[in-house]
Amino acid sequence: MPPRRLSARWVLPMGAPPIRNGAVLLDADGRIAAVGPDAEVPSPPGVPQSDWPSAVLLPGFVNAHTHLELTGFAGLADEADFSAWIRRIRALKAERTPAEFLAAAREGLASCHAAGVTTVADTGDSGAVIQALAEAGGSGVAYHEVFGPHPGQWRESLAGLQQRVGELRRFVSDRVRLGVSPHAPYTVSAELYVAVARYAEREGLPMAVHLAESEAESSLLHDASSAFADAWTARGIPLPPLPGRSPVAWLETHGVLGERTLAIHVVRAEQGDVARLVRTRTAVAHCPRSNRRHAHGAAPLAAFLEAGLRVGVGTDSVASVGVLDLLAEVRAARALAGLDAEAALALATRDAARAIGLEEEVGTLQAGRWGDVAVVAIPDADAAEAAREAVLAGGPGDVAETVLAGRTVHRR
Ligand SMILES: [Zn+2]
Repeated sequence: MPPRRLSARWVLPMGAPPIRNGAVLLDADGRIAAVGPDAEVPSPPGVPQSDWPSAVLLPGFVNAHTHLELTGFAGLADEADFSAWIRRIRALKAERTPAEFLAAAREGLASCHAAGVTTVADTGDSGAVIQALAEAGGSGVAYHEVFGPHPGQWRESLAGLQQRVGELRRFVSDRVRLGVSPHAPYTVSAELYVAVARYAEREGLPMAVHLAESEAESSLLHDASSAFADAWTARGIPLPPLPGRSPVAWLETHGVLGERTLAIHVVRAEQGDVARLVRTRTAVAHCPRSNRRHAHGAAPLAAFLEAGLRVGVGTDSVASVGVLDLLAEVRAARALAGLDAEAALALATRDAARAIGLEEEVGTLQAGRWGDVAVVAIPDADAAEAAREAVLAGGPGDVAETVLAGRTVHRR
């Protein structure tokens, strides 16, 4: 990749103050060599330059929760009831071939790039997304899902997961990480949670869990009521042990929370749950539009941020939200927690990178980080705050160019 230099009316590095008439120099390794005022960033002879007089350069956005293998399922699952919706998704997935999952993952990743998103934290069980990420040169974490609600099947589920992890390791690089995802408390037994958590710990694998998302999930764990409990009973699956705990407390009991764990949704945080997440240093992927779509309620985002939790915003899948629009998620998060523009944008850049453990690599524009840049077209902005607001008001269509490790992966 030849070096290149980008300049624009504004640069929002997200780890340093905004720069009016700023520039970013990317080196031949796809890393950032320099960021600063246009006049101070070197302009080596022969290095191609792109200038955007009406745009903002930001770190490529980080989407803290996707299911890119579900690309193409937008509008195909309109069930209001959450357990019925999940059954519908399962049925749709059962009809897809591995080649179709791969095509979906590639298309989903391309749509991320077109929206300025350069890093994703993705969960799925086809293995297609990590392959698509590897082909594209990154960037993100692919958490391979494992299911198994019956306590008698944990060994088989774990063995299946270990085999898939072994096969998928060939796609791992310094830009693509592999993790595991014991799916959710209504699809995973206590025994399987314990076994996967130990395996992840042993192998140093990051973990993602859908957690405290629906009322039905909370009821399953509290008193074995709800549609999930009925479904388990109908299938002859013993109900979860240790009733009376919140989903967050239940997972802590089974060793699942921790610094390398990403808790997705966490809408139904109960008494003491925020402290549990803080104590275990668990990160949160906040998906406000998906939570709204499924009528799960609003997550206590302000409490998470006040407590110092690592939080990033995520879109969840197109089957939930239709179009992956990370800036719309940021606006929803901002409204929910009363955030200023800087704090809101951080949820899709710096803070999201921290939540998934990639803060040394992406999420800010600074020398040494990967040259992942989102170029967002804005109307004229005289002040940094106006530039931030203009970015926040935008959507996927406002992204003029997306650069991944110095290489253009989208141009409007
Ligand atoms: Zn999800």
